[in-house]
Amino acid sequence: MSEQFDVIVIGGGPAGYVAAIRAAQLGLKTVCVDAFIGKDGKPALGGTCLNVGCIPSKAMLDSSKQFHNLTHSFKDHGISADNAKMDVGVMVGRKDKIVKQFSGGINILFKANKVAYLAGYGRLLPGRQVEVTAHDGSKQTISATNVILAPGSVPIELPFAKFDNKLIVDNAGALDFSSVPRRLGVIGAGVIGLELGSVWRRLGAEVTIVEALPDFLAAADADAARLAKREFEKQGIKILLGAKCSNAAIKDEEVHLSYADKDGDKTLVVDRLLVAVGRRAASAGLLADGTGVKLDERGRIEVDGHCWTGAEGVWAIGDCVRGPMLAHKGSEEGIAVAEIIAGKPGHVNLDTVPWVIYTEPEVAWVGKTEAQLKAEGIPYKTGSFPFAAVGRAVAMNETAGMVKVIAHADTDRLLGVHMVGPSVSELVHEAVVAMEFHGSAEDLARICHAHPTLSEAVHEAALAVDKRAIHKAN
Ligand code: NAD
Repeated sequence: MSEQFDVIVIGGGPAGYVAAIRAAQLGLKTVCVDAFIGKDGKPALGGTCLNVGCIPSKAMLDSSKQFHNLTHSFKDHGISADNAKMDVGVMVGRKDKIVKQFSGGINILFKANKVAYLAGYGRLLPGRQVEVTAHDGSKQTISATNVILAPGSVPIELPFAKFDNKLIVDNAGALDFSSVPRRLGVIGAGVIGLELGSVWRRLGAEVTIVEALPDFLAAADADAARLAKREFEKQGIKILLGAKCSNAAIKDEEVHLSYADKDGDKTLVVDRLLVAVGRRAASAGLLADGTGVKLDERGRIEVDGHCWTGAEGVWAIGDCVRGPMLAHKGSEEGIAVAEIIAGKPGHVNLDTVPWVIYTEPEVAWVGKTEAQLKAEGIPYKTGSFPFAAVGRAVAMNETAGMVKVIAHADTDRLLGVHMVGPSVSELVHEAVVAMEFHGSAEDLARICHAHPTLSEAVHEAALAVDKRAIHKAN
């Protein structure tokens, strides 16, 4: 028997669960179908972000940062600690507890908002029907006026380095090592490689990141990427660029990674290998024949500017559609689609989605890079300011990094803001707000910033656009 809903959401990650809650808030009878099984073997809401992505990696980044500070920078404050030890089991247990708390929190929010939850795999059938296969194999079909597809993404596997989640791992595996690997190899100097590489480096692993591209962090602004690379290398992370991997052979509990760079063929021997070469839309098996929903050449669900698939009442949001694979972008799309379904004007501005890499120093940006503006022939001017000249950063002993503001050469409108440094994951939002309100560098420069705060770097960088920064020579 088919139960009728206003909205069926397939996927309970940040895009899907937020869409479901917003739809229910708007009075729509909503059900969320999600297949994820947690570490304890039970169904768990929250998807990749909450269970094996954003939240657990931040928990581990924080634990490893505390340990690193204790063993490296506390002495500068006059604090000494002999024989500091890291209990990896306790660290991983703390991470698991945080994950459970937040996943359980979504169940509570679903109950409070009257969102129904079906644990199982959802497959879209023609006519806005969804077949749900529960974890015991039983099937039921439900239908709705609207279906929101939010299946997320899965790690890309390299054919020569298949995940065994023991020696060769994906992001989930690298969050669950039972001890610190002596040598950790990472394929891919992207967001996951840098964040998880940092976790294990801070705990003492020798970390080597092998990146195929000749440029480091090609998506970031070149100045920010150069500065970040220098800091990561100071921490002892080895970064090999222009290195193409061809094989990963397991011999005597070691991984022998073959790669070639400009100097020829080489082998890197490690105890664990993390493969972090990107993710792809989790669209395989999601669509039955005849739904009218199309996939592009990369397996992403095709949508218009409002996340509509072109099939009546079928929408798609988050990692499975165009745009950056970022949890917050997916959540905003979830809210927008729920509001459109309820007859409101939902919209997401992909031009002001912030990017953050939670390394030390953090890297964050919004808007365009200098390289993008050059390629588009847009005239611009820049101003930058180093954290080394910010009193609060010096007092915190966290002076690495800078803020760079890019504005249109003629109109002064903000085009991009790029940051490397302490707490820039938070600071970037000042730039996001300014850009959402079509602000200029002058607007940022004229706003009073509290002293002493890290935000003074944003203020001074905005002043520097017009060569009038106060605390540096212009
Ligand atoms: P990514 O796209 O950020 O980086 C992958 C890197 O691997 C790229 O630099 C690419 O050039 C390189 N690469 C690809 N194939 C290679 C090969 N064969 N050999 C060597 N290098 C190779 O992907 P990711 O780090 O796996 O992250 C996946 C997704 O998850 C990203 O889209 C990211 O936005 C998202 N994510 C975001 C955050 C965050 O916002 N802080 C954290 C984790 C993940």
